Amino acid sequence: MSVTGTTAVLDRGGLGALVRVLVARGRTVVGPTVRDGAIVLAVLDSAERLPYGWGVELEAGRYRLRRRADGAAFAHSAGPQSWKNFLHPSREKLWSADRSADGTPVVTGASAEAPSYAFLGVRPCDLRAIAIQDRVLTGGAHRDGGYQERRRGAFLIAAECTEPGATCFCVSMGGGPGADAGFDLALTEVVDDAGHRFLVRVGSEAGAEVLADVPHREADDGTRDAAVAAVREAVDGMGRAMPPVSLRRLMGESLDAERWDDVAARCLTCGNCTMVCPTCFCTTTEEVTDLTGDHAERWQRWDSCFDLDFSHVHGGPVRASVRSRYRQWLTHKLGTWHDQFDSSGCVGCGRCVVWCPVGIDITEEVRALHDEAEARTKETGR
Ligand code: SF4
Ligand code: SF4
Repeated sequence: MSVTGTTAVLDRGGLGALVRVLVARGRTVVGPTVRDGAIVLAVLDSAERLPYGWGVELEAGRYRLRRRADGAAFAHSAGPQSWKNFLHPSREKLWSADRSADGTPVVTGASAEAPSYAFLGVRPCDLRAIAIQDRVLTGGAHRDGGYQERRRGAFLIAAECTEPGATCFCVSMGGGPGADAGFDLALTEVVDDAGHRFLVRVGSEAGAEVLADVPHREADDGTRDAAVAAVREAVDGMGRAMPPVSLRRLMGESLDAERWDDVAARCLTCGNCTMVCPTCFCTTTEEVTDLTGDHAERWQRWDSCFDLDFSHVHGGPVRASVRSRYRQWLTHKLGTWHDQFDSSGCVGCGRCVVWCPVGIDITEEVRALHDEAEARTKETGR
């Protein structure tokens, strides 16, 4: 009999036990915690490091922590990092080579065994982002062995969103604040007169096995109803939305839009938006050697399409202007990603909006492109 879909209730102590059980099983548990004025992802040895009682205020180019009275652990939206920081890290050694006594190079392969990760508090938008990176990096033409190894055994505990940020727009990207697939366990946090607790849904056999070792109780109607209501409220509480049009077609029709000049005048080409984006996957490789020339290493590191070198072919970059680089990013993310990977490259997490130092807002740019396309159609009749 399938155990997926089973529900249970954990209290705050049960959440602590969940982390202990995962650690005892040899998992490296990663989850949100407070550091340096932000909610960041870090290795957790105890659930006490979760950001109980912290929320966030988000706006374009702005992020602030704020205290909450209810002691909730997951009432904050996506922070500056995503799970790609762990599954597809910003720097990774691919191999090293040493000159042996007889002068021949001895090559040593990639680093040590991948940790057995358990990710605690994966937002539904980030579950979809992981699924997108899976399509890119575990199948097709762009396989990444390190990613595959880290991803293979990863245990995912989703935390449904009950309080979306002012920059969130997952609903308009076809997702939502509820977790529907891709998790081993899904938590919905409920804080009301009946107490602080978590509705747990089982999403896999592995999830059921872990839950069996954690003190829990049967799900009651009150907790179930409160969890459903909290997620439903979050649907209505999205801070932003994409225009309800085919973004793929809009991108295809907007290659010569004037709006690209407008955004190019503001964009610093810093690449922050690509670094924080949970689906951006581009990398470059670097070879380094020591001064003796006897030791060399090859590293893979994140790259960004905002970087001039990114499109450098003989003689110079193909995309030399800011306009062409911003257009490339947005057109790929919302348009040609469909052709390559059969989905959008955006899950509506809002990180690129928050962490852009000049507050460029992807939803505002798309709206402007849409308005321009409409005006063009009115003028030309096409
Ligand atoms: S859109 Fe913002 S974050 Fe992205 S490259 Fe331009 S200035 Fe940087
Ligand atoms: S493009 Fe922006 S909103 Fe979309 S997934 Fe990337 S960071 Fe999130």
